[in-house]
Amino acid sequence: MQVVLLGAPGAGKGTQAEALSAHLNVPHIATGDLFRAARQSGTEIGNIAAGYMDRGELVPDEVVVRMLLERISLPDAQNGYLLDGFPRTLDQAKSLGDALGKNDSTLDAVLYLNVSNEELVSRLSGRWICRKCQAPYHAISAPPQKDGTCDRCDGELYQREDDQEATVRTRLGVFEKDTAPLIEYYRSQGILSEIPGEGNVKEIENKMISTLS
Ligand code: AMP
Repeated sequence: MQVVLLGAPGAGKGTQAEALSAHLNVPHIATGDLFRAARQSGTEIGNIAAGYMDRGELVPDEVVVRMLLERISLPDAQNGYLLDGFPRTLDQAKSLGDALGKNDSTLDAVLYLNVSNEELVSRLSGRWICRKCQAPYHAISAPPQKDGTCDRCDGELYQREDDQEATVRTRLGVFEKDTAPLIEYYRSQGILSEIPGEGNVKEIENKMISTLS
């Protein structure tokens, strides 16, 4: 099953993707995580992406598409995948559609997590993430048991550079301009389901699972 999780930065895609990918038994592929890993290991793609990421801008389509197509060609993705943070532009969506079409395949579903702008800013500016397992926390709504330490793996928690308020506003503007058109694009293909993304995490997860089944 090939599923896309669509939503603004901070909509909860990462949190929901974990449970959903376990439920579907497919890998969770997040282009943001791939870029952060590439930066850490100092690869060419990581170096290209760094400046765009720090400014809250999108990495050029050809770079992202190349990286994503390589990732979904790996053995673990042959029975499907859950994409998080990709596609983010119409051109990326078309490249993905073309690549799937070459294998006589299509996307099965696009789940759009809808969250208000005010809520997004509050979520992102209080967000802490585990350096080791990427588990997300929030200073107010989902704090770890021990300050600065991941409950699951004891990893160190950190705040992303691009979660500063000014960069958050840029990222939300980019979502409105470049990514929001994908909502209509996929709706017109009849594969988009809109899920209200505010409220209880478990209830949102259940709604996503029942929508898919
Ligand atoms: P995320 O973790 O999904 O919020 O992504 C962090 C940053 O990585 C974004 O602000 C972009 O700079 C870059 N990025 C991730 N995915 C994409 C994509 N599909 N297209 C362009 N840039 C991306």
